[in-house]
Amino acid sequence: MPDSTPADPPRAEDDPGRAFYSHDHGHCTTEALARAEALTTARGLRLTPVRRRTLEILLEQHRAMGAYEVLDRLAEDGFGKQPPVAYRALEFLVEQGLAHRIRRLNAFAACARPGEAHRPVFLICTGCDAIAEAPGARVYEALKLAARDVDFVIDRANVEAVGLCPTCQSSASEARA
Ligand SMILES: [Zn+2]
Ligand SMILES: [Zn+2]
Ligand SMILES: [Zn+2]
Repeated sequence: MPDSTPADPPRAEDDPGRAFYSHDHGHCTTEALARAEALTTARGLRLTPVRRRTLEILLEQHRAMGAYEVLDRLAEDGFGKQPPVAYRALEFLVEQGLAHRIRRLNAFAACARPGEAHRPVFLICTGCDAIAEAPGARVYEALKLAARDVDFVIDRANVEAVGLCPTCQSSASEARA
């Protein structure tokens, strides 16, 4: 009797805004690592220990980390202190769509939807540094049209916005009250 079966509650990992509220983040991380393993294997590549550890470090929180911050963490784990160690691992993750480069912050964030075709816009909270990927198809379409008006063909675009997440908005308004 499918009609009487209550609908499953929406899963947090399907919510692009989950970076901005507390959720079962362990589940996020486990899921992302499993997808990363499956994707790299399917592509005939390897998630080597340093690549996997780099992804785990990025996945610890929904925020971006600079290459040197990642390098420090890798060094603590015995992966060496040479910057190329971090850069190569990060580059691999970006190439494979497992992480994104956040240009505004000169930093990297784990992808929230690895293996899915998506063109995210990045929403960066200046209060708590959380970053969410919101679906950006409409934004990029608008950008393409705006460019076309001036006979410009876009090669690459990366939309990043800074502001306050719901949690930081409420603490800001409480502070004002
Ligand atoms: Zn999470
Ligand atoms: Zn992504
Ligand atoms: Zn925030």
